[in-house]
Amino acid sequence: MKKTTFKLTGVALLIAATLTGCNQTTSDASAPQAAKAEMSKTLTAKDADSFLARVSEEMVRLNKEGARAEWIYQNFITEDTAALSSAANQKSTEAGVRFAMEAAKFDDVEVTPDQRRKLNFLKQSLVIPAPQDSKKSAELAKIGAELGSMYGKGTYTTKAGEKLSLGDMTATMATSRDYDELLELWQGWRQVSPPMKDLYTRQAELANEGANGLGYPDLGTMWRSNYDMSPNEFADELDRLWGQVKPLYDDLHCYVRSELGEKYGTDKVPQNGPIPAHLLGNMWAQTWGNVYDLVAPENADPGYDVTKQLAVHGYDEKQMVRGAEKFFTSLGFEALPETFWQRSLFTKPEDRDVVCHASAWDLDAKDDIRIKMCIQRTGEEFSVIHHELGHNFYQRAYQNQPVFYQNSANDGFHEAIGDTIALSVTPKYLKEIGLIDTIPDESKDIGLLMKMALDKVAFLPFGLLVDQWRWKVFSGEITPENYNTAWWELREKYQGVTAPVARDKEAFDPGAKYHVPANTPYSRYFLAHIQQFEFHRALCEISGNTDPIHRCSIYNNKDAGKALNTVLEMGSSMPWQQAYKVLTGNEQMDATAILDYFAPLHTWLKEKNKGKQCGF
Ligand SMILES: [Zn+2]
Repeated sequence: MKKTTFKLTGVALLIAATLTGCNQTTSDASAPQAAKAEMSKTLTAKDADSFLARVSEEMVRLNKEGARAEWIYQNFITEDTAALSSAANQKSTEAGVRFAMEAAKFDDVEVTPDQRRKLNFLKQSLVIPAPQDSKKSAELAKIGAELGSMYGKGTYTTKAGEKLSLGDMTATMATSRDYDELLELWQGWRQVSPPMKDLYTRQAELANEGANGLGYPDLGTMWRSNYDMSPNEFADELDRLWGQVKPLYDDLHCYVRSELGEKYGTDKVPQNGPIPAHLLGNMWAQTWGNVYDLVAPENADPGYDVTKQLAVHGYDEKQMVRGAEKFFTSLGFEALPETFWQRSLFTKPEDRDVVCHASAWDLDAKDDIRIKMCIQRTGEEFSVIHHELGHNFYQRAYQNQPVFYQNSANDGFHEAIGDTIALSVTPKYLKEIGLIDTIPDESKDIGLLMKMALDKVAFLPFGLLVDQWRWKVFSGEITPENYNTAWWELREKYQGVTAPVARDKEAFDPGAKYHVPANTPYSRYFLAHIQQFEFHRALCEISGNTDPIHRCSIYNNKDAGKALNTVLEMGSSMPWQQAYKVLTGNEQMDATAILDYFAPLHTWLKEKNKGKQCGF
């Protein structure tokens, strides 16, 4: 399924930090700690109250301003709107740094649990905290911009002399079945990243210093502190979840490897080791749905085509959104406000440039919710609309929370909720809304499950390893000399994929993945992939479903809607475990829902893998 971004409003979700224009500067790194200890003697819970009240007011204002500027930019791309949006961003970022520093002063002050929760959100709002030294923070900001631009401007000129963008290469990687062409593009894109290595090394150093200033031993620990459990517990938790799904992944890997072996030859795809990383239809081998045609089960055609059915039933873009809205109202949610229909972008305008990537927005933390999408009239897009509206209904549900808590229960939840809704877009649902006439029998499920597993199950080890690598980089366990070898050790260990050619000493392959130079934490995607199946299973149980869960849709079930709304309304006001308990009855994540969902496929895979030597 298509990845979509969610427009994060709120200083709580800043991407980069700089202290430019901030008056909290000192050149002595040890001074702030001493000053903090001194300060905390005089601060009280009452001070925390007034601090939080002041911040809340400023955040509401900045969020609104920032969201407007960003909306205008993405809907009318010009130099001027870009400048206005980046100015608004800068302003939020600076405020975020200020809030984090001030919040850290209350570390040793006795405050209420609610105050502590809010203060912690402010402290952890910076994904990459700047050191309290104006020169260093300016350097950090500059490095961030440089890395972003190196990635964004990256191109590769082919041996045939054609200059390609990442978008061009992505498209070819998805469809080409030419081993050498794929290899050339795979190597070509990775020429973009070696110049990033020294900058990245320095960025890690500076960000660690910033994290130290906020009281964390290193940036990885700070990132892992966002989950209402200790940083070590969180790391263990991810390992435990991975252990649960690994048997399913191993069987999928084994089957796909043997099909690729038939396609490309077992000399190119050895049947006893990892899969060459360029053959899976994706630049990073992170989702494999693009090679579905190479591995599709026989007779897997479900006998209908939603894209065609949408045309037959005369759905235009707006009607597709109306259809998705009806999914939510059928659960008992209030209809979308009139402004949603007036202000959203549904189709690609002909007269101007816009950012087409699908996203859901919340402009005023009240009723001004919108989507921005250049909708194509396809079945896949129909699912994406359900996903985007999931964000919108979440945003509206937590609007009455204080601004600090106007967010998902943890950073996996927002995407997980959108995807949970999309999991209910099943043949059964399509029949209920009159798009198809008959539900295909269960023999056709293997094809649908395979297509989904290639994206959602194949993604899991990648979703895990990106931060495994970064946590070790930030802690110093992986040193710059070992950046690349450690990266490939993790990719082989977790994904069972390998570099198709020996890597140069200069290579810096992690830098060829957007989230590394952009410094965006990645564990949230792993979490979202685990959580969505659990939420789906739980809601299906609440709805009284008796079908296998991959056939279940919660459409039209008010009990499921009520349970869902209870969780959405909570925002991030309570530890996410409480939200979990409302839905699943359990405070711990549990990856067995994925196993349940894909059970028929897993049985089928085991049968196909009989006699094969699996493992990598
Ligand atoms: Zn999304």
